[in-house]
Amino acid sequence: MNEYFKFYMPTKVCFGVGIAAEITEYVEGKNVLIVCDPFLYQSGAAKKIGDRLEGRHVAYFSEIEPNPCCESVDKAANAARQIKADCIIGMGGGSALDVSKITACLVTNEGSIYDYYAGGKRVLGERKAALICIPTTAGTGSEVTNVGVFTNQQTGIKMPFVTDAFWADYAVIDPELTYTLPPAVTAATGMDAFCHAIEAYWNKESQPMCDMLAMEAMRLILNHIKTAYDEPCNAEARSAMLQASLMAGVAFSQTRTTGIHAISFPLTSEFGASHGIACAITLPAFMKLSCEQRADKMKRLTAYLGYDCVESFAAAIERLMESMNMPVRLRQIGVKSSDLEHIAKVGLEASIIQLTPAVMNEETVCRLLKSIL
Ligand code: NAD
Repeated sequence: MNEYFKFYMPTKVCFGVGIAAEITEYVEGKNVLIVCDPFLYQSGAAKKIGDRLEGRHVAYFSEIEPNPCCESVDKAANAARQIKADCIIGMGGGSALDVSKITACLVTNEGSIYDYYAGGKRVLGERKAALICIPTTAGTGSEVTNVGVFTNQQTGIKMPFVTDAFWADYAVIDPELTYTLPPAVTAATGMDAFCHAIEAYWNKESQPMCDMLAMEAMRLILNHIKTAYDEPCNAEARSAMLQASLMAGVAFSQTRTTGIHAISFPLTSEFGASHGIACAITLPAFMKLSCEQRADKMKRLTAYLGYDCVESFAAAIERLMESMNMPVRLRQIGVKSSDLEHIAKVGLEASIIQLTPAVMNEETVCRLLKSIL
């Protein structure tokens, strides 16, 4: 545990059932671009928000795919520049929220995302447009992080972009917006939030304030994810899951993530696994490994969550994933033993992997991957 730590999270958080209807209280500016997930545009949920903004010019951008690529970001930026947007509202899962964050910056930072990211030489200047993030998955916590994750279509590489310009002004979090989530997305995104929490907790940069948030997030997810999966409109479970993803998001926004997320990048970009599945699939194996340097802390966590030891905790997580039809072996998402070395190499390129509380090199990562093939 670090005895020297900092905690900075400038986003104002507004949480509550039906709170999205109060959107006018948070919007500044006249020209608003709603950057939303295609499902939310087609279902009319985004329009409901836009219709409340009477007296303002409201436009929509919804050409966003999961694990958004830089080309979609550039299109969103052009849409924002065309209407001279002074407020961007991101509405959707992590994919739409991440696009909204960079779009809010590119309104006044000219050029393409490639100029600032993935080897680009320019430094992203201050964000001038207001930014409001409304999450509709209980997963990424993107509404309260300074991270955006984008896929460079030219190289196929998915990478995080971290800048203080990505802290939203407001996170408006309304559990009702998650009632339409299909069970498979509920499971994958919920387990992503669990990974954020546990990775913040065992992180080499962990700190007491994040530990507290992470522990409560894990408790809420273990108590409510299966109900949210089985009963999509269960208000208590949906609210608990969004609170958990919020807390986990705040926790990892301070510590960053670890090996689970580092390995998830090639599993998504090369094997097509959704972000949540790509993370959760290595979770039980990383849990066992975390005892290498975090034995005492993991003991406290297992006791807090009601398990005897880390092994039984990891086995319970695996059973929970199976109960929600999630893959628990790499071969279930198309990985072969001949792929392991490459996955390990790509994962090791992400600096966050070294925040894992265990020795991370090609040999140890390959061994871990082999154990869950
Ligand atoms: P997503 O945003 O890609 O959405 C997954 C699916 O859920 C999509 O098909 C979408 O249409 C659908 N969906 C979203 N909300 C819905 C709703 N309310 N009802 C019905 N369907 C809905 O998934 P995600 O897991 O939320 O986000 C993943 C992305 O976020 C990845 O690119 C990941 O790398 C990134 N991420 C970002 C951060 C961050 O801090 N910025 C953190 C973790 C992950």
